[in-house]
Amino acid sequence: MTDERRALPSVSALLGSDALQALRDVTPHARLVEAIRATLARHREDGTTPPADGSAWASQVQQMLQLDERRSLRPAINGTGVVLHTNLGRAPLAAPAIAAVTAVAQGYSTLEYDVDAGGRGSRYLHCASLLRELTGAEDALVVNNCAAALVLALNTVSLDREAVISRGELVEIGGSFRVHEIIERAGVRLRAVGATNRTHLGDYVRAISPDTGALLKVHRSNFALSGFVAEVDVPSLVPAAREHGLPIVHDLGSGLLLPLDDLGLRGEPTARTALRAGASIVMMSGDKLLGGPQAGIILGSAPRVAAMRANPLARAFRVDKMTLAALEATLALYRDPELARREIPVLAMLAEPAASIAARAEEYRRLLALRGVDTEVVESSATIGAGAFPTAELPSVALAFLGDAERWSAALRAGEPPVVGRIVDGRFRIDLRTVPAGSAWLLLDAVVTAVD
Ligand SMILES: *Cc1c(COP(=O)(O)O)cnc(C)c1O
Repeated sequence: MTDERRALPSVSALLGSDALQALRDVTPHARLVEAIRATLARHREDGTTPPADGSAWASQVQQMLQLDERRSLRPAINGTGVVLHTNLGRAPLAAPAIAAVTAVAQGYSTLEYDVDAGGRGSRYLHCASLLRELTGAEDALVVNNCAAALVLALNTVSLDREAVISRGELVEIGGSFRVHEIIERAGVRLRAVGATNRTHLGDYVRAISPDTGALLKVHRSNFALSGFVAEVDVPSLVPAAREHGLPIVHDLGSGLLLPLDDLGLRGEPTARTALRAGASIVMMSGDKLLGGPQAGIILGSAPRVAAMRANPLARAFRVDKMTLAALEATLALYRDPELARREIPVLAMLAEPAASIAARAEEYRRLLALRGVDTEVVESSATIGAGAFPTAELPSVALAFLGDAERWSAALRAGEPPVVGRIVDGRFRIDLRTVPAGSAWLLLDAVVTAVD
């Protein structure tokens, strides 16, 4: 034991001290005692020199109280350049979606109330007509996420029967989602066909038996197969599916409502083209490229969607009013594609020209320099994330910080709001494609505070 540690005051001495009077007046007794204990414990554990006077103790106890009040889930700044970062909450919502959430959260709503009939309505109607309009689907159903959508669809069409899927599509999407495990938990038997790199139409056809419940296509999402590869697209599966009266279930994963070819993002079908290709049921996430809240969107024929709605699992996967409000407002923006691209943050971030990011970067560099923080503007490369366009890279621009990269990284993560960046070539970097102009001041403040 060191002398300093022996010198720590007791809880009751600090609690009764004059210096803590102001805190005593505004803090519930039990919380103050807890904060004093935690402050003392930190000195004991870290072996740090305790404060020399009462007011320094008071400020440490106050910091401890603030730390304790901090929300676990709170805003953060995404300086990683990964636009859809699952760990950082995926899609930021568009302003109209935020307004819609606030409006329904504040009071009562028409969640399950039919104002025309004056009686019970259905929560499943809210986004359905917009989804029909935007995708051409006959009907639509919204559940908690795309994983739930897949479970619900397979459980509805193929319970106790086989789903035929290519070995090349038995993918893992994030640590907790493996297609083969999801299929089995849905009460469906997996019938894997083909080889990892090549699957042919004949592989599917030979696997079809009276036991088959569905043909399943899953977007590979987070990796690309190249070289000696072959896969069977949905149109090629349609004749066999028709002949045997089988549904084709297509998990699009990220899913698009608008083509993004002009941004250099090619090769992914929109929901509309996926349905036109002949899939019976198409599903996609709400909070990936669509840019809305976490949700799973299921599109299909009226009888199929009705069967899914009637499945008891639909109740277990049902979405709340805030999700529906945010999704409906986001979908409404897509009625005007130009508006969608401007207002939906994910699309706006994907679309910002590198030259515009560079101009912002230069401005932030200058402002930081004025406040004594030296950075350099460097070329960077942003990615889409969340399993969409896995190999695509968007030209971007980053601020690179001088000095110890690990220290910058830790200091900015510890700030309020936390700033998450990346270390590239030994330098800490903040990629500005994912820091829209609207949050620049938060970022600059966070950086300056981290230095202090
Ligand atoms: C991301 C993804 C999912 C899971 O979507 P959540 O909405 O996160 O549940 C399912 N399938 C594919 C192909 C995906 O890319």
